[in-house]
Amino acid sequence: MGFAIGVDLGGTNLRIAAVDESGALVEKVTTGTQVKRGRDAVIDDMVAAIRALTSKFQGKSKLLGVGIGVPGIIDKYTGMVRESPNLPGWSDYPVRDVIEQKLQTPIFLENDANVAALGENWLGAAKGNDDVCMITLGTGVGGGLVLRQRVWHGMTGMAGEIGHMTVDPNGPRCGCGSFGCLEAYASATAVVRMAREAIAGGQADQLKRTASDDAEFSARSVFNLALQGDGPARQIFAKVGWALGIGLANLINLLNLRMYVIGGGVSAGWQAFAPTMFEEVFRRCFVYAATVPDEIQGPQEGASAELKPLASARRTIITRALLGSDAGLYGAARLPMLGVEMTEHAHIPAFQK
Ligand SMILES: [Zn+2]
Repeated sequence: MGFAIGVDLGGTNLRIAAVDESGALVEKVTTGTQVKRGRDAVIDDMVAAIRALTSKFQGKSKLLGVGIGVPGIIDKYTGMVRESPNLPGWSDYPVRDVIEQKLQTPIFLENDANVAALGENWLGAAKGNDDVCMITLGTGVGGGLVLRQRVWHGMTGMAGEIGHMTVDPNGPRCGCGSFGCLEAYASATAVVRMAREAIAGGQADQLKRTASDDAEFSARSVFNLALQGDGPARQIFAKVGWALGIGLANLINLLNLRMYVIGGGVSAGWQAFAPTMFEEVFRRCFVYAATVPDEIQGPQEGASAELKPLASARRTIITRALLGSDAGLYGAARLPMLGVEMTEHAHIPAFQK
């Protein structure tokens, strides 16, 4: 059985895992590498760690390649990082070719949200499904679309930017230049921003106390308050659910897939945002209303009661991710196993090659 190396080139740490073809995680290393030390130091450490891992299996198992999940936009054609706020100094540098040369094994670069989707599809919440749409709620909101077990890249590798779907045309300005993106309501950054707005509004005493007591005031702090029943904190998570519901309604109308998986740090707040999310999806999405599982009860005026029972295989499932931060490691390791059809030239018409 062969194995592959998955790399999670996160905003802070570098994590590397050896995963075999059955999906067993053989070994995982979290290097102390600080991404802020710069591109060359990170690449050198990555290459050294991969060599050390690989040498352990030499002779016993074949290395199929290395997949690297990168927080940013990847140019699949050139193997370069096109844009990544978390990786300053990485753009316009032939990352894939440089690493490939050093390691003499196929290297696959992929956006981090895409590898998370691939991981959940292979071994997590969407295991056994051909298709999955994944939304990752982290510092920002990422999206990944896996169709027929392959990442859907679109024309230039930029497909799946679910975080920048408009949920409110008059909403706050987003880093992408647009207004009222999903990211502006459902990211950890957005939760903290909404908390500060509520505090500034003078109606959120508990939030105010928590924010001033807690130096590491975060989306998690707001969630804890919501769990304790604090009104303003609950309202913030209801807003998260509202925005996700709108986003999902659009996605479900567009894609009609079976599985929609929600992961990332903010997904820990599921309990606080899921009720509004399901309500909103049900209210806005007739495709969902027509395929909703029995256990999810939408508003009574919905159409589901009139519909004939569907086989469970044709129900729309919106669920939490299962693999946590390892989804990206598994998904990255999966890339070399899926082989050449995932590489950059696969969908370019022959005359452009
Ligand atoms: Zn945006």
